[in-house]
Amino acid sequence: MTHKIVILPGDGIGPEVAAAARAVLEAVGSAHGLSLSFESHDIGGCAIDAHGDPFPESTAKACAGADAVFLGAVGGPKWDGGGPRPEAGLLALRKTLGAFANLRPITLFPGLERLSPLKEERVAGTDMLIVRELTGGIYFGDKVEGDETASDLCSYSRQEVERIARIAFDAARGRKRRVTSVDKANVLATSRLWRNAVVALRDAEYPDVELDHVLVDAMAMKLIERPAAFDVILTENMFGDILSDEASVIAGSIGLAPSASLSESHGGLYEPIHGSAPDIAGQGKANPVGAILSAAMLLRHALGEGEAAAAIERAVSECLAAGIGTGDVGGSASTQQVAEHVCARIAEPD
Ligand code: ATP
Ligand code: MG
Repeated sequence: MTHKIVILPGDGIGPEVAAAARAVLEAVGSAHGLSLSFESHDIGGCAIDAHGDPFPESTAKACAGADAVFLGAVGGPKWDGGGPRPEAGLLALRKTLGAFANLRPITLFPGLERLSPLKEERVAGTDMLIVRELTGGIYFGDKVEGDETASDLCSYSRQEVERIARIAFDAARGRKRRVTSVDKANVLATSRLWRNAVVALRDAEYPDVELDHVLVDAMAMKLIERPAAFDVILTENMFGDILSDEASVIAGSIGLAPSASLSESHGGLYEPIHGSAPDIAGQGKANPVGAILSAAMLLRHALGEGEAAAAIERAVSECLAAGIGTGDVGGSASTQQVAEHVCARIAEPD
């Protein structure tokens, strides 16, 4: 069976890192006998230029019909002046796919400890996965907008909590089987529901997974104090927004970090966490590792090809350990050269 992958290169460094990710997918496809097909479509600023719309109908249709969607990045100063916003394309895409779970692995690669703003001995061995609920909570509750008083309603249903918790427990089974659920149950009713629902689901369906609970304020400290202590971190929308940005700096370069946005009805959306980085676009300087590792997540989560995903992750880790990398990680390779090295290691593992 052929897996249909839609690639949305987007703007800035998006096309460069998307080309690198595609090359790696093709390499792992031939090494592991996978049948993958690729189709590229416009999104963001380039789609505004070509179609007058950051998320054209043709792109929406292609994404809906794909087994998975890979995105480079959108946005840039060219579209800052007024008129349609490139970022609106991304929001529309997430909505079309029904993405409710955002996964962000934070990995400290062996040999790159010196890049971290934290002390080397503190970060060594850090390998965590943040699972953030993406469609509920305070960002989407009813709002009252006033000059003297304003309010934002935070609400979660048990079903919404179970749905995201299941993603975290399933992911933990492929890792160290530990979930840390983050909430503010000493103050918030939604957090008490969250905690009850997570405990009940673990007891009923995941007795093999270790579960503990940390209040979000304490978690903000622990992430910095002992990042290597965590495996899977499960949290609601706003806490996850804040904690995932905090955690993303631990590994040293924004160019290294991948993400996945999962849906119940679709294979999901895979993208590096960095933006379009217009300052380095078109120069071959962009670190493709975040994009390449996003492609590995696509294989694992959308296509069920965990072995091929692991082969990519191993090849990336070996390249970085061997000093092959772009300038942001202290190397001298171009975007394309990094991709070529990763492809070569996938084709001929040691
Ligand atoms: P956006 O609004 O699109 O998220 P941003 O300004 O918030 O953009 P990024 O575009 O993610 O942030 O990048 C911030 C800076 O980090 C860039 O200007 C660039 O110098 C650096 N950077 C981002 N991604 C990469 C990458 N893949 N490789 C190397 N450097 C990068
Ligand atoms: Mg940004």
